[in-house]
Amino acid sequence: MPLTTAQQTRLQDDLQGLIKGEVRCGEVTQQLFSTDASVLQARPVCIVTPRNTEDVVAVVRYAAEAGIPLHSRGAGTSLTGESLGEGIVLVFSRYMRRILETGDDFVTIQPGLLRRRLNGILGQSQHRIFGPLAGSVYSASLGSILARNGAGIHYLRNGLPSDHLVSMTVVLANGDLLKLDRQSLIQPLQGVGSVALAQEIAYGKEYVYAGKIARILENRTSEQRVESANRLPVCRAGYAEHAVLQGNEAKHIDLARLFAGSEGTFGILVEATLKTVSLPLHKTAVVFFFNSLSKAIEAVADILPLHPILCELIDRRRLNMVRDWDARYRPLIPVDAEAALLVELDAGTHEAPMNVTDCQDRLNHLIDLIQTKQLCYHSLPVNTEDDFQLFNQVIRRSELVLGRMRHTIQPFPLFDDVAVPVPAINDVVSKLLTLFHQFKVTASLSGHVGQGHLRIHPLLNLTQPDTKLVLPSLAESVYSTILKHGGTISSEWGTGLLKSQFLPQQFPHLLPLFREIKETFDPQYLLNPGKVIPQGVHWIDHLRHGLEKRGVPSKRTTGSSGNWFSKPWQQGEAAPSQLEIQLKWEPSYISESAYQCNGCGECLRFDRESRICPLFRGTATVEFAPRSKADLLRGILEKDIDLETLTGERAKTIADTCFQCRMCDIECPSQIDISLLAFRSKAAYVAAHGLPLDDLIVSRLDNVLNLLTPVNGLFNAAMRNQVVRWLCEKMFHISQGRTVPALAGRPFLHRIRWSALRHGLSSEQTEKVRVALFVDTFVNHFDPQLAELAVQILEHNGCAVHVPARQRPSGLRSFAVGHADRAERLARRNITQLSDLIRQGYKIISLEPSSASCLTKDYRHLLDHHESEMMAENVADFCSFLLQQYRAGKFQEDFQQIPYRAGYHAPCRGLAISASLTTDATPAEKLLNLIPDLEVERIERGCCGMSGLWGAQQKNYRHSLHIGTPLFRALRQPEIDFGVSDCNACCSQMAHGSRKRALHPIRLLAVGYGFSPFSALDW
Ligand SMILES: Cc1cc2nc3c(=O)[nH]c(=O)nc-3n(C[C@H](O)[C@H](O)[C@H](O)COP(=O)(O)OP(=O)(O)OC[C@H]3O[C@@H](n4cnc5c(N)ncnc54)[C@H](O)[C@@H]3O)c2cc1C
Ligand code: SF4
Ligand code: SF4
Repeated sequence: MPLTTAQQTRLQDDLQGLIKGEVRCGEVTQQLFSTDASVLQARPVCIVTPRNTEDVVAVVRYAAEAGIPLHSRGAGTSLTGESLGEGIVLVFSRYMRRILETGDDFVTIQPGLLRRRLNGILGQSQHRIFGPLAGSVYSASLGSILARNGAGIHYLRNGLPSDHLVSMTVVLANGDLLKLDRQSLIQPLQGVGSVALAQEIAYGKEYVYAGKIARILENRTSEQRVESANRLPVCRAGYAEHAVLQGNEAKHIDLARLFAGSEGTFGILVEATLKTVSLPLHKTAVVFFFNSLSKAIEAVADILPLHPILCELIDRRRLNMVRDWDARYRPLIPVDAEAALLVELDAGTHEAPMNVTDCQDRLNHLIDLIQTKQLCYHSLPVNTEDDFQLFNQVIRRSELVLGRMRHTIQPFPLFDDVAVPVPAINDVVSKLLTLFHQFKVTASLSGHVGQGHLRIHPLLNLTQPDTKLVLPSLAESVYSTILKHGGTISSEWGTGLLKSQFLPQQFPHLLPLFREIKETFDPQYLLNPGKVIPQGVHWIDHLRHGLEKRGVPSKRTTGSSGNWFSKPWQQGEAAPSQLEIQLKWEPSYISESAYQCNGCGECLRFDRESRICPLFRGTATVEFAPRSKADLLRGILEKDIDLETLTGERAKTIADTCFQCRMCDIECPSQIDISLLAFRSKAAYVAAHGLPLDDLIVSRLDNVLNLLTPVNGLFNAAMRNQVVRWLCEKMFHISQGRTVPALAGRPFLHRIRWSALRHGLSSEQTEKVRVALFVDTFVNHFDPQLAELAVQILEHNGCAVHVPARQRPSGLRSFAVGHADRAERLARRNITQLSDLIRQGYKIISLEPSSASCLTKDYRHLLDHHESEMMAENVADFCSFLLQQYRAGKFQEDFQQIPYRAGYHAPCRGLAISASLTTDATPAEKLLNLIPDLEVERIERGCCGMSGLWGAQQKNYRHSLHIGTPLFRALRQPEIDFGVSDCNACCSQMAHGSRKRALHPIRLLAVGYGFSPFSALDW
């Protein structure tokens, strides 16, 4: 339903006048909400972020009058396009995400609250949680969990979310606000006209609706009753009409159960009261490995009598990919395993305690049983808390891992969520495999098999035009096989836009009844139309446009002429437009990253186990998440939005919410280079408007400092003056809250001008490890002594050190602000010089991980494959290099004692280059632990919020401190003497926030070796 600009403006003004929340109708925002984690897309007319129930009611009444559809949305991670649509999207994840009341065994919440967050809070304060583990672990909102009512991984213990529902408050399509719970139908309400009104006033609207639904259900035909009775317990297709009417004579009607699983098509949830359950007392689990898929499925029948609470199947392909993804699994997952079953047994709760020995006995019995029957060939009991972490992670990673596939064969999530009766699984699987064979398709398989659930991903080559043609008949055949065996087309995720069309196949008799119920609540089909009740649109018409481009390697980004600025225009290609030339727009430069994002929502996390994404976390605004950068550029590549959009303020705001910490590189399951996408967006804006003064200063900081160096005394004195700092803030937008470090009289690269360091190696040094020191702007101008200590330490460890005199700053800051021309100029100069040195056998050592990651990662798109590999292998940050030396037995450990306790913060870019988990010890930590008596405590509280000069800019100052606050709090503990981090920007932020000294590891190593006095550690 495309609107004209005038209509859009009117819609935005009208709605904004009615509500306190936010209303956006611009094309950038529309683009960001036109996809979710499914393969579909639909462009909404407007996005509303309500602040409260009154906002929701106002929007619904307005939409009802104007006849505009409404789609509720949490995090937008549904896999069936459930929250997509062409009307107004109501986003609950921003403001309506509070806990309203907590009781001993219940909690009242708003719909945008994440299940993960609720359980974190309840778990800590009450040792209780909301039980059902339905939806994606990190980003599923409770509104969506209730709207889908999916079984979830612990169904065998917890049942469905609706089993834990006390009541819900919903807004109907006409704006009526209802509180739904289990009602007793004392007398049928059948009045009309004024009698109906009187009844409504006497009993409430809820009773009127309950009466209507009761009548519809009582009139079910015998075929409908049979269809209802034959549903699988975990069936999530259609409406839950079977669960509503309870009792025979004295009828109860539970409308909340009917609304649960209705996919936002009956009403909009604004509040819910949920039962809570206590946390399990113990845990006990085992992983079985099988040499055939069928044996794994056969074992399920033997496992179920022992009351597992989880029984998950993972096939060979996923096991192999998980092993490749995470080195911790390499010794655990046998290479020849064809399938694995992960089984967790019920181990009791506070309400129903179980003896630990009994649990262990049951587990041992289970292992014996499966081994004696020679079903599995290897088993791995899960004992410790660390084992459980790995156990849970392998399940999650097996869901996400196919997103890492980078070739043209891609997993297609069409049969992700089917279920069949457990005894039929083996039969169904073998029939499906035969079917895939006929269609010449391979598939990957997993699922919660203990409850009959199967996740089947055909691996398709969507670049082939035939594939799209084959898809509908493949879908028909697969679904009819499932249905013939008494299965369901959806077990957890609902039917959404993707599967609703198959509902008549599953419920030929019940479908008219579903329509009748839907029309009782929403006669105009305004609430989430196209979901559950099919509306004649084929799912294939909603397929994401660029799907066939996912996984297609970009032709131009490989080979030495692969970078965008050196690629000449070729005959036969469409000539670039004037704007394209101006913006240096090169689609192939970004397409691989933009298309690879599958919307999984893993970047919408708030938990402490990850760092992605510091800028999203502070705002909870999904437009600022990493995913949005990919969505935006994909929209341009698809021509859904104009290229010109990138030169607009909204696109700039989206791009600016990436400060290129590079955590996406390791934490996005699909390993998408979001920094690159943000850089290209920023560069396009800069090409059209030029750099604002504050960004220009950031980008050209080295030039500015070169100019100031001759008057460094004056500069340093001025920077201690509040008035001058205030003036700097007004003129150059450098926050006056920041302390500017003292500028050195002679930068390091000047100091070595006459030293031997700048001339290659002498003949007696040729046997030593050759090291070329890369010194970036901060150390060069503000802390040259750090570089001198680094040289001393390297020489002490047997290295021959050379400092290339003509090196230029890395360009990190120019990349950060989108100053593409300069970033690329600096990169070119450094690449030429450093690759020459590498060819001569030098290792390039940078003093900070941020510079190392710039040389290896940010430059990657300017290099051909060979150069790229060469840089990656030969560039390292200082501590990583010394750790390599330590491992090679070439590290001196002649340290003196340092009896202090240091709080260590790992810089984000450091984690990104080593591709480490946030929990892994970093090279700096390992080295510092070699110093006697020095206690190094890792403080993992996420990003520090500084990111180079980002946090020094006035516009970012507060946000920067907000991001760093958890780290500051930890550092302020009295037992920590000082902070340590191998990034100077992190050190300055840590010192600023904690009021304690923060040091680079080089300083501690230097004190340890006796190159610096102990006083160097003093504040
Ligand atoms: C990697 C991955 C793994 C997943 N694993 C699972 C899994 O194991 N099991 C599972 O069940 N799902 C799984 N999902 C699917 C997804 O996580 C769930 O659908 C999740 O509940 C969606 O949460 P959301 O907040 O993103 O909802 P959205 O996608 O925003 O919305 C989902 C549905 O809820 C409705 N809704 C949202 N808020 C309201 C409201 N206030 N009122 C009325 N209706 C509302 C929407 O209209 C829509 O129909 C997975 C997804 C991903 C990406
Ligand atoms: S950026 Fe990565 S983590 Fe975020 S939605 Fe895309 S694929 Fe998922
Ligand atoms: S690189 Fe960092 S700041 Fe940028 S989107 Fe990824 S996690 Fe966020």
